[in-house]
Amino acid sequence: MRDDNCIFCKIINGDIPSRTIYEDDDFKVIMDADPATKGHSLILPKEHYANLFEMPEDLAAKVLPLAKRLGADMCDKLKCEGMNVVQNNGEVAGQTVHHFHMHLIPRYTDGCKTDVTWSHAGLSDEQLDDICNLLK
Ligand code: 5GP
Ligand code: ZN
Repeated sequence: MRDDNCIFCKIINGDIPSRTIYEDDDFKVIMDADPATKGHSLILPKEHYANLFEMPEDLAAKVLPLAKRLGADMCDKLKCEGMNVVQNNGEVAGQTVHHFHMHLIPRYTDGCKTDVTWSHAGLSDEQLDDICNLLK
């Protein structure tokens, strides 16, 4: 399943070049073209799914083990001290390319710095209780 208007489908198809660091039957892992830090990479399923919620569970279940394996290997090779594993769903959540992808963002104590942060909503205990009850 491909989307002709999707830049990541074009990359997977080989129509647009990318720096590929890993590939198997289900995934292609490429370096981000405009990285936040040295080694910032993206895990892309080869099939087009706009976001996590559109992905079949069996494919989604393969993403985290792959992130774990590649992330550990990247830390080893790049000598990073930490890593953010980030996955955005929907424009409001910061997703700009609507083909599921998981970011692997190596973090370094010095040199290549970036921000992966959020502000705090400051909700009251009552609001937190209401939300908790709604989500149970
Ligand atoms: P999002 O904001 O959707 O979570 O992340 C999209 C990411 O894709 C961004 O970090 C952006 O730099 C990266 N990106 C966008 N277009 C391309 C491209 O054509 N090639 C590669 N390798 N990365 C891209
Ligand atoms: Zn796509």
